[in-house]
Amino acid sequence: SAVAREAARPAEQASPSKQYKGGSIKVRGLDMFYGDHQVLRGVDLSVAPGTVTCLIGPSGSGKSTLLRCLNRLVDGRSGDILLDGRSIYQEKPDTVRRRVGMVFQHFNLFPDRTALDNLTLALRKVRGLSTAEAKRVAEARLAEVGLLERKDFRPANLSGGQQQRVAIARALAMEPEVMLFDEVTSALDPELVKGVLNLMADLGRRGMTMVVVTHEMAFARKVADQVVFMDEGRVIEAGSPGAIFDDPQSARLKRFLAEVL
Ligand code: ADP
Ligand code: MG
Repeated sequence: SAVAREAARPAEQASPSKQYKGGSIKVRGLDMFYGDHQVLRGVDLSVAPGTVTCLIGPSGSGKSTLLRCLNRLVDGRSGDILLDGRSIYQEKPDTVRRRVGMVFQHFNLFPDRTALDNLTLALRKVRGLSTAEAKRVAEARLAEVGLLERKDFRPANLSGGQQQRVAIARALAMEPEVMLFDEVTSALDPELVKGVLNLMADLGRRGMTMVVVTHEMAFARKVADQVVFMDEGRVIEAGSPGAIFDDPQSARLKRFLAEVL
């Protein structure tokens, strides 16, 4: 488990492959409404630094809304969210969005800009880097996702999988403490899914804290430190992949797994 790993290897002896210093997340009693419609109901969630949490559950159960709360795209009505022990509601939404990166199903790249420019624009605007420095960082991040040789391509001339890797590189370029992924492989052709999942698994191994909404149960089983099952705005069960997939407790989770596995 993640806890055992931490104990076995103190931070100062962390292997050089642990490139990221992921932050921790604590969600406490989070309620969220769209108008009169309650979408999150007393959600509690703990994510340890440098671990991968997969959120699963039926459509409409509140998974995307929970992710959106974590980087303050929307705000809860009551409860709290702590990032590294401090409430995100004490910070400006822009600051939270920089610390907590998010990648979406539909990549949200600027279509008329090259891959490189998609990164340098954000680096100059959000991180205030000079043109030269932004280019240096952008090229390093594109290299990290295996796309340096495509840096001058526009999104339309990249595959869906490559576009998604550019979107991930752009989020990483902000040097976030946490990365959120919302069904990032759902719009991809089947043969492109694996490359994106492999990249995400790699980020997890390198110490990024990640919360991943996914329908890819094999990925959740293999990569997640924790799997969280949501239904109707509530966390119904949370545990190790073994506990959730092999020993589900609630009738709702059993029914869900019978449908998706
Ligand atoms: P999931 O990601 O698990 O499919 P969502 O978080 O997208 O679930 O949605 C949870 C509930 O909130 C659903 O009932 C959905 O219809 C509703 N919802 C989502 N987004 C909005 C919105 N922008 N305005 C109003 N209701 C919304
Ligand atoms: Mg969703």
